[in-house]
Amino acid sequence: MFADLHLHTCYSDGTYTPEELVAEAHRLGFVTLAITDHDTVEGCPAVASACALHGLQFIPGVELTAEYQGLEVHILGYGFDIEDATFLEQMARFQAIRQQRIRDMVARLNEMDIPIQVERVMALANCRAPGRPHVARALVEAGVCRDLDEAFERFLKKHRPAWVPKSKISVPEAIQLVHRAGGVAVLAHPGLYYVDPVLPELVRAGLDGIECFHTKHTPAVTERYLSWAGRLGLLATGGSDCHGYSKGKPLLGSIRLAPEFVERLQQRIAARRAQLSSLKS
Ligand code: AMP
Ligand code: FE
Ligand code: FE
Ligand code: ZN
Repeated sequence: MFADLHLHTCYSDGTYTPEELVAEAHRLGFVTLAITDHDTVEGCPAVASACALHGLQFIPGVELTAEYQGLEVHILGYGFDIEDATFLEQMARFQAIRQQRIRDMVARLNEMDIPIQVERVMALANCRAPGRPHVARALVEAGVCRDLDEAFERFLKKHRPAWVPKSKISVPEAIQLVHRAGGVAVLAHPGLYYVDPVLPELVRAGLDGIECFHTKHTPAVTERYLSWAGRLGLLATGGSDCHGYSKGKPLLGSIRLAPEFVERLQQRIAARRAQLSSLKS
């Protein structure tokens, strides 16, 4: 009866195709899935079809890179209209920023006499939302690095030689973007950055929930965010953040979210959709 609400596919930096992801989730006994690719919803239709085929419930999602007081913060959007024109325009804009950033990072590497080609990175990414993991794959393929971790440590992490800052929207803007498309906005993996003092401000900006259950959260961290969720009246969500084989072993199965959390999320999505259609009529 369990769910995983944080999954990446090959439409961003995951390695699973929609069909592979759903087949594997079904094999592991999941009944509900949400995919949350970075800055794209292109994988949603195929995952929805595969879920229908296996009798799983599907929730469309996305992971947006935002910024709050200089800190990079990820916002998960759930249940919005994946055909909303404004939303799709913004995704296209974020994808263009990502593609330019790849060219800039490759240029940095080339300046260091590392012969990586933009075309090769784009081919490895094979999607509109390429990111640093794809540059890392090219570095491993070229024999420059042993694995993705080494590529991040030596070149791609913040302030390393090939790192290029990414222009980001603010957290309130990310929340608005999701809301205006009829969705619910959730703070991704809060345990990976220290945002606790500003949580009440984020709630005033419209935040609907926090991802309490995440592979990188210890039980104590999960408890802390469940407690925050209770105090602030926020939804609690969770997911593995599985990227397939991109970071070693797939994480699918490491988080099994109980159905009560999915029900509350679905109720909030239904309320947001109703609110939006009453505003439009
Ligand atoms: P970007 O969106 O281009 O800034 O790249 C960030 C993505 O890189 C994150 O979403 C992670 O999936 C991935 N990432 C971060 N650190 C590592 C690492 N050490 N090894 C592999 N992937 C990583
Ligand atoms: Fe990622
Ligand atoms: Fe993230
Ligand atoms: Zn993620």
